[in-house]
Amino acid sequence: MAELLTLENFINGEFLPCTQLIDSYEPSTGKPYVRVPDSDKTEVDAAVKAAKNAFPIWSKTPVKERANLMMKIADIVESRLQQFAEAESKDQGKPIWLAALVDIPRVVLNMRSFAIAIQTDVNRSTVLHEQGAVNYTTSNPVGVAGLISPWNLPLYLLTFKIAPAIASGNTVVCKPSEMTSVTAWMFAKVLNEAGLPPGVVNIVFGLGPKCGAALVQHPDVPIVSFTGSTATGQYIIENSAPYFKKLSLELGGKNAAIVFDDCDLAKVIPGCIRSGFANQGEVCLSTSRIFVQRSIYETFLEKFVTATKNLKVGNPSDKDTKIGALISKEHLSKVLNYVKIACKEGGIIKCGHGKDLMDLPEENKNGYFMLPTVITGLKDESTCMQEEIFGKIVFNIYYWINSPVTKFLVSYLVLYFTSGPVVCVSPFETEEEVIVRANNVKYGLCASIWSENVGRHHRIAQQLEVGTVWCNSWLLRDLKMPFGGVKASGLGREGIFESLEFYTNTKTVCVKY
Ligand code: NAD
Repeated sequence: MAELLTLENFINGEFLPCTQLIDSYEPSTGKPYVRVPDSDKTEVDAAVKAAKNAFPIWSKTPVKERANLMMKIADIVESRLQQFAEAESKDQGKPIWLAALVDIPRVVLNMRSFAIAIQTDVNRSTVLHEQGAVNYTTSNPVGVAGLISPWNLPLYLLTFKIAPAIASGNTVVCKPSEMTSVTAWMFAKVLNEAGLPPGVVNIVFGLGPKCGAALVQHPDVPIVSFTGSTATGQYIIENSAPYFKKLSLELGGKNAAIVFDDCDLAKVIPGCIRSGFANQGEVCLSTSRIFVQRSIYETFLEKFVTATKNLKVGNPSDKDTKIGALISKEHLSKVLNYVKIACKEGGIIKCGHGKDLMDLPEENKNGYFMLPTVITGLKDESTCMQEEIFGKIVFNIYYWINSPVTKFLVSYLVLYFTSGPVVCVSPFETEEEVIVRANNVKYGLCASIWSENVGRHHRIAQQLEVGTVWCNSWLLRDLKMPFGGVKASGLGREGIFESLEFYTNTKTVCVKY
């Protein structure tokens, strides 16, 4: 068997091997292909120390110099776009073309956008004429930021944290997902090549409950930005509370698409196919519930199911592949189990389900594939209409037991669900009814409305309990717009202005003249 690629932690500009390693699997073949450091508190402490030492100089480095370094990093990544895309696809399971079209260009955009934004960032000032005083604000970096990211959009989401954090003068310790660590390790090499000073960005690899938790609980990390499941977000709130840490939490979603009978079905079908199944449905913003107005329900369903059946599932390197492999064997079996639960709860599978129905190339026979699946007939209270299949549910015991050892062990009793490509479709009658039903979940990340009536878009958008509403579109992103969720979907917002604000502490200075 070929030698496995072995990753090292990136601390103070050096690549440091770890004695304990975890095997990471290639989702499209089911074979182990990389060993990831199984870091614990020791490595996290070393990384935080390096970041803390680098902070005084980096925070005072002229903005222009910081921005130039970030531009250089972006240029290097862009020059290796295909190499990064192939690595992201191998690690995560998504088609290579998708990583080359979306993930890696977004890494470049993240670095460039914040490099530009930090140079135009301005503070506020007021004049109190009667009292003879001037007020102004300054935005000061917070310190060492802990950045924890998930496996679905690995380097895309990690750099959406690194870029604003370092642009505004913080130093960082990153903890990427243990399932998708390779591109972060490649990115670390780029940081050295670009000449980023040692200690500004440190990356420790490993498991969440061990390595991630050590970062969350570290007293020298006053600010934590996390993207991942709602269950882990809850853990982070509880475990960072004793330190009064600044938190940004981008969590799970159970997003609805609302399709009215005055929509243009020619736009809606490809729109809902994309929102339901892009990236194997493993996007926090994926549509998992489609509500369709009764008068066009049957027509919509027929067209949607036909389009779903046409999606090619298979080898991520094939340019015709629309759906790659799910992230892991465990996740795949849980998603398939989820479909079984849906059937028990009265669901009807209109298309999709398991690998046995697929004709996969020999090398992919043990990969974690499933067909995009459309389910109808479920009540709103059913499991598949309520739970984020993509996130994870942690048994409450995890939070009840205080011993760190028990906590760590019990965290492995986590019940994972991943939606992969599963969409539930349900009919509705009226606007009033569908608003209540769309809001009837604990999450509030995003929603989409499909209608040719502009007034209806504005009216409904105001009533949906979510952070983003897309009208006749999905995942059209402008980094200048705030992004985040309400309810169990998160705390805070990410975006050009919001992130720069998050990674700084604002100080008001009042000068009497
Ligand atoms: P996850 O919560 O299992 O893991 C996310 C990260 O947190 C990983 O790096 C993991 O190792 C780490 N982690 C796990 N337990 C931890 C702990 N106790 N302490 C500290 N760190 C810990 O989530 P996931 O399965 O990797 O990602 C899927 C979830 O992410 C879904 O719920 C999805 O909706 C959500 N997500 C949200 C957004 C958003 O912007 N709202 C974007 C992408 C993904």
